[in-house]
Formats: sequence, C-alpha cells, structure tokens
Amino acid sequence: MKIQTLAQEGYEKLVKCEDPASGLRAVIAIHDTSLGPALGGMRMWPYATWEDAIFDVLRLSKGMTYKSAVADTGLGGGKSVVIGNPKTDKSERLFEAMGEFVDSLGGRYITAEDVGTSVEDMVVVRRKTRWVTGLPLEMGSSGDPSPWTALGVFRGMKACLEEAFGSPDFRGRVVAVQGCGHVGQYLARHLADAGAALLLADIHPERVRALADQTGGKVVSPADILGVACDVLAPCALGAVINDETLPALRCRVIAGAANNQLLREDHGQRLKEAGILYAPDYVINAGGIINVSIEVEPEGYDEARSRRKVENIYFALKRVFEISKEQNVSTNEASNRLAEERLSQPARNAGA
Ligand code: NAD
Repeated sequence: MKIQTLAQEGYEKLVKCEDPASGLRAVIAIHDTSLGPALGGMRMWPYATWEDAIFDVLRLSKGMTYKSAVADTGLGGGKSVVIGNPKTDKSERLFEAMGEFVDSLGGRYITAEDVGTSVEDMVVVRRKTRWVTGLPLEMGSSGDPSPWTALGVFRGMKACLEEAFGSPDFRGRVVAVQGCGHVGQYLARHLADAGAALLLADIHPERVRALADQTGGKVVSPADILGVACDVLAPCALGAVINDETLPALRCRVIAGAANNQLLREDHGQRLKEAGILYAPDYVINAGGIINVSIEVEPEGYDEARSRRKVENIYFALKRVFEISKEQNVSTNEASNRLAEERLSQPARNAGA
C-alpha cells in the first residue's frame, strides 16, 4: 500500500492511497480539526481521473467543516473518496484496505457511509480501524440518520415560521414537500401532527399516495411541486433545485428542506433574499444526521436523549443565522458561512460547548 501526502493550501491534510493488491485507489481530505476530529462519509464513485476525485474530496470535506461548526458537534470536517464503480468494483479486500488507510491517520479522520457505500461496507472497514461510524445498531451505532434529519428540519422550520410569519404555529400553514423518501416521510408526519396542510410529490406514485393517505396530504405532480403556492417549500429529493429556471416561478415564502446543495450557485441565495423568500441554508437545517453521529463518537457512547436535545438546537442555529443575515444585510447562506467561520476562528470558546 502506497500512501502519499499531497500539499494543499487551506487544508490540514490531503492523502492519496494506491494499493495494487486490493485495487484500492482513494483520497482522504482533512479540511479542519480545530473543533475536533474530522468526520465525513466515504464516497465511492467512478471518477474519471485522480484530479476529479481530489476536486470532489476537497469540496466535500470543507462543506463538512462548515456543517459541523454551525451544528456545534465538536467535530471537524473531512471526507474520503474511493475511485470505483459501487455496482461492480466492491470487494472485502478493497474495504479492508480502505480501513487500513483510514487507520493510518490515527483518528484524525472518522469515516461513515455515504453515496456509493453502505452499512455492510462499513462493517468490513471496521475490521481494520475503529475510526468508523454508521455501523449496524447491534454494534453500538446510532442507526438510520433519516428520522434525526427530519426532526432537525421540522424544528428548523419553526424558526423559519417565526421569522417569516411571527409565529411558529403550523396550523393553517401549507407546506409543500418535494420527495417522499426516507427524510420526506418522517418530516411529513411531524408536519401533519403539528397541523400543517401538506402538498406532496414524488416520482414514485405509490410512495406519495401512501404518504398522502397517512397524513391527509394532497398529491401534486413532481413537475409542479416547486411552483405551487405554499407557505413553506421543503426540498427533500435532489440538489440544485433552486436555479435560474425555478427561481422566478417560486410561490413560497420560506424554503426549508433536507436536500443537500439546494442552491445551484451561492448567488441564488442572494436572489432569494431579493425575492423576499427566506431560505434555511441546507447544511444548517439538515444537520440532524451528523449531530446524531457526533453523539455516537463521544467517549460516553451513544445517548438518544442527548442526541434529541442537540438536534433540537438546530432551531437556535437558524435563529442566529437569520440574525446575522439581517445585521450584516447578507443572504442567509452567506450568513451561515460567516457563522461557521466565526466559530472556527474561536475554537477554544466552542470546544465541547
Ligand atoms: P431518499 O432517496 O430516501 O428520498 C428521496 C426521494 O425523492 C425518493 O422518494 C425519490 O423518489 C424522490 N425524488 C427523486 N427525484 C424527485 C423529483 N424530481 N421530484 C420529486 N421527488 C423526487 O433520500 P433521503 O435519505 O430521504 O434524502 C433526501 C435528501 O436529503 C437528499 O438530497 C439527501 O442528500 C439529503 N439528506 C439526507 C439525510 C438523511 O439523513 N437521509 C441527511 C442530510 C441530507
């Protein structure tokens, strides 16, 4: 196994691994550990070149630093990528070698499942390193992150309602949910219990129908959901849904959902502000899953009640983001970046908070 350190400005460590015996070709980036060890998933993707893989791991690891800083997880940001096709290139030897690669960083990087990897893969990684989360429940893990992500989005949405309408009350509010998958389903149930009227869309008709029956929601076609008249639009399917085409057609007052990278470009956040639409920055409102995992890596072990309390704090994180946005007259996505940077510049004050 050949492990090579690459120089990368603005990052604490960038390492590349080639292991002909197992076929492993992978990169780990540690962006910043000033708030704690760098946690971030292991992505497996058929990158065409090493440069593509490095570009992605740099971008994703920095994103994890910001997400964890605002969520106050006591973790830093990192990520790993394995070059390969997750459908055809997986083997136990490959993930064992990846475990050795992760272990070579001595706990400064902690991995988890991500796009292209699964709980089963993490079990194989665990044979070679203890620096892995997202294992099966019976191995002491915190389990499926989706209910936690949904709880965080629900709590965060209350902060949005207060900001936009002066009250956190869901009764009489219309929420449009794009995507009735893992997170969308849990979120819709919280919303229905709180008295919101739901508009639901999914590309799987049976999935959306079943959820509409359970929650009293109305089914909307996937083509129409982004432009329906509603109080809150909750993107819970894909990234880049806010772009030049969709933005002029939006008829919501708030955007608050679980999807990653909702804005195609950062300046779309400014455009939303100008349009009078309150945007809950995705990495702030969808941090419930990472917060839950951060409890798993604490020395005392996983504690569900503690996790719930911390996930509910997403409400306060968003309140702070909205304050910064108003005080400094910047978009909410810019405000959350500034909040992350402020916390990163004062690690001692935030450590273990
Ligand atoms: P999922 O795959 O379980 O659900 C996504 C749903 O969206 C599916 O039901 C799919 O059919 C539907 N969908 C796809 N394209 C659509 C379209 N054009 N219109 C309407 N519906 C469409 O995924 P998930 O785990 O629920 O995650 C949802 C989003 O939240 C993703 O962007 C994910 O990256 C993000 N996220 C998830 C978590 C988590 O804990 N699962 C954490 C953070 C962020």
